[in-house]
Amino acid sequence: MRSYSLLAPAKINLYLEILGDHVTGGEDSRPSGFHEMVMVLQSISLTDRVDVRASGTDLIRVYCSHPQVPNDASNLAYRAAALMSKQFPDKFARYGGVDITIHKQIPVGAGLAGGSSNAAAVLVGLDLLWELGLTRDELQDLGAVLGSDVPFCIAGGTALATGRGEQLDALPALTDRYVVLAKYRSLSVSTAWAYQTYRQQFGASYLRRGSDLEQRQQQIHSGAMMAAIAQRDATKMGQLLRNDLEKVVLPAHPQVVQLREAFQQTNPLGTMMSGSGPTVFALAESQTQAEDIQARVKAAIANPDLEFWIATFNPFGIRIVE
Ligand code: ATP
Repeated sequence: MRSYSLLAPAKINLYLEILGDHVTGGEDSRPSGFHEMVMVLQSISLTDRVDVRASGTDLIRVYCSHPQVPNDASNLAYRAAALMSKQFPDKFARYGGVDITIHKQIPVGAGLAGGSSNAAAVLVGLDLLWELGLTRDELQDLGAVLGSDVPFCIAGGTALATGRGEQLDALPALTDRYVVLAKYRSLSVSTAWAYQTYRQQFGASYLRRGSDLEQRQQQIHSGAMMAAIAQRDATKMGQLLRNDLEKVVLPAHPQVVQLREAFQQTNPLGTMMSGSGPTVFALAESQTQAEDIQARVKAAIANPDLEFWIATFNPFGIRIVE
């Protein structure tokens, strides 16, 4: 049976600003239920491995031993395979079903886009397995059907994401940067909850479509964060980290506030929650500084429920394991 193994990296948000309600384009434009965002996304060296194998059956099956990851049709990897089978029914009929095995390393419900990256890996894997020869753009269009982060996960690297997060502009790749991540094992945050709560609390001040929104997008485009990235200025980038979702997640989870403060005490280049959390990360100049940050936060909080990772910025999206 033919099979492919793929590496699916996690991402962090170096910047996440919520501008307003996202509306679908065209003449009958209406709210899509998502938010209009500006994000800077960065893939990191913390990865899952996803094996995609022709099964010789007519089934899509998912295997993942992580207790928080479903093995049924609600798994994002399953949904990616189901979408491909619907989109390319002749290939599904010709090549048959697929077994997907996920070797989880990326924490679940952590704001690190683990599920989205698994789905991206399945799209890339089935493109190979079914010899479709899809372009990256075509794969990303399919990815956008599954979730706003999936198109980014396919390409990886450093990118500016706009719209609901699916419109991507590649930014100069940032490498040689270290990131320390920490998450309480027993705490997960639902992305849907974080955005809904944000809308309830801050919806009244959302920018309306039109000139206000376009002006803000333009400001960010030509602003300090983009300049810091273009100059590869890690110190400035660290100072400019932003995540609007902290405004709802931190008040609901005091232990994340404590973690954020413990990171701040170590004088990193910058510290921030990633995505909808609850993972908090800190940027470091070197591996030595990253190890020092980790040791100091571990000592300051001394809670066995707290898990740490040290990773590097990664210029890759989904990669095939040779
Ligand atoms: P994001 O940063 O995109 O918001 P996240 O890192 O917060 O994502 P995930 O780890 O992707 O969250 O998982 C969120 C939920 O999706 C979990 O409750 C989990 O049960 C479910 N899920 C479905 N498929 C997967 C998958 N392949 N990997 C991880 N979680 C999955």
